[in-house]
Amino acid sequence: MQDLLIRNIRPMGAEAQDILIRAGRIAAIGKGLAAEGATVEDGAGAIAIPTLADTHTHLDKTTWGMPWYPGRKGGSLQDLIDNERNSRIPLGLDVHRQSMRHAIQLVENGTGHIRSHVDIDTDHGLSLLEGKLATRTALADAVDMQIVAFPQSGLMKRPGTYELMDEALAMGADVVGGLDPSSMDRDPKGSLDAIFRLAEKHGKPIDIHLHEYGELGAFTLEEIIARTHALGMQGLVGVSHCFCLGMPDPLRVGPLMEEVAKADIRIFTTGHPSAEVPSLQDMRAAGIRVGLGCDGIRDTWGPWGQPDMLHRARIVGMKNRMRRDDELELLLDAASRGGVEAMGLEAMGLVPGAPGDLTLVAGETLAHAVVEEAPRPLVVKRGRVVARAGRIALPGVVMP
Ligand SMILES: [Zn+2]
Repeated sequence: MQDLLIRNIRPMGAEAQDILIRAGRIAAIGKGLAAEGATVEDGAGAIAIPTLADTHTHLDKTTWGMPWYPGRKGGSLQDLIDNERNSRIPLGLDVHRQSMRHAIQLVENGTGHIRSHVDIDTDHGLSLLEGKLATRTALADAVDMQIVAFPQSGLMKRPGTYELMDEALAMGADVVGGLDPSSMDRDPKGSLDAIFRLAEKHGKPIDIHLHEYGELGAFTLEEIIARTHALGMQGLVGVSHCFCLGMPDPLRVGPLMEEVAKADIRIFTTGHPSAEVPSLQDMRAAGIRVGLGCDGIRDTWGPWGQPDMLHRARIVGMKNRMRRDDELELLLDAASRGGVEAMGLEAMGLVPGAPGDLTLVAGETLAHAVVEEAPRPLVVKRGRVVARAGRIALPGVVMP
């Protein structure tokens, strides 16, 4: 593989330098670097940051590029779940095509890592996973993708789902998903035992959607913490949303956050529009590894969102009442390096020896780059240019 020398860029907003990437890793950062035979790019003084990480999304759900979907419902979580499961086939929602549209735009906007849940249910079997596995293969040079086998319609309440989850993990799903063990499955012990059993059997990490509010969510979270310690799975368990950590009771939330940090449970947060969310600043101060995610984009659940992690960072920043530059820098870190770390992957930032993954961003400083809405000039994955001026630039990959 050819070396890549990017001249005149500002790593993390520092003064202009060059970066040399060799064999997929950052070999040197400094002024006036030279490398014979390297491909040379001019960064034009742009800021370079590690690639962004979408640590919580649903690539199998978006209707992006399809006719506008007017059938969104109000009502309960169960109504939304049933509406989606019953709509997929009538809508003609082809998961490979839709996940390509979604993931390519994430790459164009500087994303180098994606953790995407995929619905596993007894109506669709493993067909949605198959579509997404094809997308992962097609985009393997541009983005590292973790797939979570996600029992969106319930694990305990729909017999046959556990067996499908088992098959999905054997087929190539990377992470065991779960959904509201108490309020959806109505069986926290059964649901959590099943999730942790699958993780143990396949040697894979866990990522549980926990929408449960207040004391019920805290109860489920404590059960997750207890199992994490009992099975020695510290660092291998994630909880998505975890709205219970957003409840307005610092005497309850503070110690819970300390317990989450002790178990090294990762929290994935999305700036959800219809719930109180855990404070990003408080979670980081407690030592919790946190990732940010776009969640569903323009799907049968909701009309909102863009496939762009800087767009999502702005939503999370507003939701967390962030305004100071140091807060926006923390936000950017959670949207990039910190998110990769929360996914359990190597996350060194822009230093020699680190993976050669970076994106250029517009702005005078890191804080400015978070709020500036502008295309990413260049996106690099393992030392290879994969997008340029906000468009995919990978041979053989076209937007469907
Ligand atoms: Zn989700």
